Amino acid sequence: MSEAVKIHPAVDAGIPPAQPGFAGGTLSCRCATDTVTVDVGAQVAHNHVCGCTKCWKPDGSLFSQVAVVARDKVTVTANGDKLAVVDPDATIQRHACTVCGVHLYGRIENKDHAFYGLDFVHPELSPQQGWAPPTFAAFVSSIIESGARPERMGAVRARLQEMGLPPYDVLSPPLMDAISTHIARQRGVLKD
Ligand SMILES: [Zn+2]
Ligand SMILES: [Zn+2]
Repeated sequence: MSEAVKIHPAVDAGIPPAQPGFAGGTLSCRCATDTVTVDVGAQVAHNHVCGCTKCWKPDGSLFSQVAVVARDKVTVTANGDKLAVVDPDATIQRHACTVCGVHLYGRIENKDHAFYGLDFVHPELSPQQGWAPPTFAAFVSSIIESGARPERMGAVRARLQEMGLPPYDVLSPPLMDAISTHIARQRGVLKD
């Protein structure tokens, strides 16, 4: 129906399933020498494709693929001196390789944020197979800001639906509910 629409290399040819018991892998930047490596010592959660303009995307892709994992499971294991934060003012501090531009992990330093304690990682940077697959598409409308034609959005959303990645223009309902629940507790609206 809309085969011509490319979403992301990790999902365009079919979405591989998670492996039971999968316990993580090693992310690498794209430098041929002095490669930055980051160990992720757990399975990821909330994997999704993201259309925002801040996430790292492979060349030519309108979406990134990004997931979360506990920050204490993320360890820089080589050439961390090449990493720098892309935008220190952003909620998510994306630590990128200053040579090849790949983002190795994104970290939230604001302890009051709903997602504090979770790092954002791109599972495709690891050679291991078995990561929890993407299950939705976030910030879909934002791909227009990266150059997608507005009149193609219907086809993009149709393709996402077809792949089993329901499109949202913010995050998924469970994540949006988690953010609002966190804020309601901070404000004392929710007492438990
Ligand atoms: Zn690099
Ligand atoms: Zn994003």
